[in-house]
Amino acid sequence: MHDTWPLLRDSDFPPIDRDRLDTLQLNLGYLCNLSCIHCHVNAGPRRTELMDRDTMALALQVAARHGIGTLDVTGGSPEMNPHFRWLVQQARAAGLHVMDRLNPTIMEEPGYEWVGEFLAAHRVEAVASLPCHSQANVDEQRGQGVFESSIRALQTLNALGYGRVGSGLVLNLVYNPNGAFLPPGQQQLQADYKKLLGENFGIMFNQLFALANMPIQRYGSWLLSKGRYADYMATLKGAHREENLDGVMCRSLISVDYLGYLYDCDFNQMLRLPLDIGSGVDAARIATARPHLRDLLEAPLPRAIRTAEHCYGCTAGQGSSCGGALA
Ligand code: SF4
Ligand code: SF4
Repeated sequence: MHDTWPLLRDSDFPPIDRDRLDTLQLNLGYLCNLSCIHCHVNAGPRRTELMDRDTMALALQVAARHGIGTLDVTGGSPEMNPHFRWLVQQARAAGLHVMDRLNPTIMEEPGYEWVGEFLAAHRVEAVASLPCHSQANVDEQRGQGVFESSIRALQTLNALGYGRVGSGLVLNLVYNPNGAFLPPGQQQLQADYKKLLGENFGIMFNQLFALANMPIQRYGSWLLSKGRYADYMATLKGAHREENLDGVMCRSLISVDYLGYLYDCDFNQMLRLPLDIGSGVDAARIATARPHLRDLLEAPLPRAIRTAEHCYGCTAGQGSSCGGALA
């Protein structure tokens, strides 16, 4: 795989810092039943990295210490982590809002029939990836049969109450482009999704999050191998909007890898750019080790954010964050 980091490292991206911490995003591991081309974590069925229960317990302690209200659970397919249900139960019992970033096809895998009912029973916000409302585009990006499987899974979530007015069960969908271009306007795209998925399949959902693809990992490698990296970066930088800097997700979130190490966001995690935890903890220890969840048991809120060229993926056009467009 081609590495884009040497091209991203030197950057003129404007300096930013963290202004609050309301979300801990836990990557439960890289195991996934799919292996999509745009995947920025290189997840797939053969990955073995998974967060253990002790690390999850530490994350819950950190959330309590910093008054963090939301646990955002991602992967891979987070439900494939054998401790997923334990984590969700503990987090909900502690009063945390839990978001599960799921690839809906997991609900159709043998052994994972429990996913929908479990999420509904614990009132977990479901953030389901469906990169297009077109079957051809989804299958091209994610694999043959993925669209139909995703549609059936979303129908199951609807039957459980997800996406229905008054149920309180939130179902948001995630779109990302299937090429080297920026996402179209989120509002219009959401209207198109609602119309087409509603008319064709009876599917209801709350919001659509339109995310830009990041020029890193599998997608970055694809851009390089197709000779499209420079054009894509020029598109991102040309569309940079200063006003999006206020809303980039790293300003209110910390990302945790499956071993408990800390990063400013999922993208920095995949680039192995560790969080700059500052001077609030034993500097000698941090100088020799990457900042870890246990450091946050004593450190104040880390303010510094490490940026590079890929950050333009968050500020281009309408902006892009784990909650969709920023503009
Ligand atoms: S479903 Fe998500 S985590 Fe799994 S390979 Fe695709 S993009 Fe990556
Ligand atoms: S890539 Fe990460 S660090 Fe850079 S702006 Fe986006 S969220 Fe922040």
